Amino acid sequence: MIYLDNAATTKLEDCAFEAMLPFLKDEYGNASAVYEIARRSKKAVFNARKQCGKLIGASPSEIFFTSGGTESDNWALIGAYDSYRRKAGADGDANSNLLSAGCGHIITTAIEHHAIIRTAEYLKSCGVSVTFLKPDSEGFISPEQVVSALREDTFLVSVMTANNEIGTIEPVCEIADAVHALRKDILVHTDSVQAFGQIHMDGFAGHVDLLSASAHKLGGPKGCGLLFIRDGLKVAPFIRGGMQESGRRAGTENIPGIVGFGAASEKACLVLDEKIKKEVMLRDELLSRILNMDGVIINGPYEEKGCSKRLPGNISVCVTDIEGESALIMLDREEICASSGSACASGAREPSHVLKAIGRSDDESKGSLRFTISEHNTSDEIKRAAEVIADVVCRLRSGRKHL
Ligand code: PLP
Repeated sequence: MIYLDNAATTKLEDCAFEAMLPFLKDEYGNASAVYEIARRSKKAVFNARKQCGKLIGASPSEIFFTSGGTESDNWALIGAYDSYRRKAGADGDANSNLLSAGCGHIITTAIEHHAIIRTAEYLKSCGVSVTFLKPDSEGFISPEQVVSALREDTFLVSVMTANNEIGTIEPVCEIADAVHALRKDILVHTDSVQAFGQIHMDGFAGHVDLLSASAHKLGGPKGCGLLFIRDGLKVAPFIRGGMQESGRRAGTENIPGIVGFGAASEKACLVLDEKIKKEVMLRDELLSRILNMDGVIINGPYEEKGCSKRLPGNISVCVTDIEGESALIMLDREEICASSGSACASGAREPSHVLKAIGRSDDESKGSLRFTISEHNTSDEIKRAAEVIADVVCRLRSGRKHL
């Protein structure tokens, strides 16, 4: 099998597996209890907080573990809204201020993952005004665009760090700085699920207020994520109950998941330069072979070689005169795993909202293919994949001609 769908999920790293093993069986203590086995669990969670925080320059007290990227995104948006409503009420006469403050305004983008888009739509149904910024043709959102969309009642800006379909890396720190230069009270959130452990993000904690990440995108286990909350920030809890995670995210901790997330983050920190170099090399090799075919348009930013404004392992293209879904089935028969957009959207016949937002027609989007490479892929795999992709496209096009 040649696995080229690392944006959907990644293989568990050996170091994460090894670190998790004891906590799946013998080290079963509940981190909230007082005895020795529980203290070991608590210590392991604290260690993971340090390991994860290091990737973005955050202190352990700013890392809150969740069930994954989706929960972190929901918490960031809904928590910010709850805090805004409460603050509006607390500033004076509770009821009248709540009414006069209205439900506020948030700014996000038209190319976010559904975890953000659908949560923003939910807030809209609660009365919040939502601006979905449209990107340029390569998927970029500019700080100027964000600043010009600000309103007096804006309480949150959420712009993803890197796009899951087309790989565009947004200027998130510049956006956060531009917003904060004008208004310190507006929270800036970024969904870093695709970027965390994939690109350098060392200083992010010094710019944004909130940041989401997910373990299974960087060689950690599924079902574990985090929300970075800048020290001193009041964001209402999303899951209520016990006093875990400093009383901000209730529920007995997923200790094996958290420990695996920590180990995968520590490894990513150590090998990041090497990993990026290898992925860029393999990506450019596959991309140049794909671009040798007629009728291929690249989605997202592109420079001849080594584009640094695109996720290192991401290739997204639209291939004319083919159906992406048919290509995926034929690739699968040759044991090549790829995707035709985001994993959540494939299977659904709707054209991708991301491709639509960068100006692709429905017809072009139909032939979209995404290959996402990891440092575990090899040059031989890339060569074989390129041959099979060319053959599949050729067969699909000649089949169409004979219809
Ligand atoms: N945000 C982005 C950009 C993603 O790519 C994904 C998953 O693909 C998510 C959020 C959701 O993360 P999780 O699968 O951990 O819920």
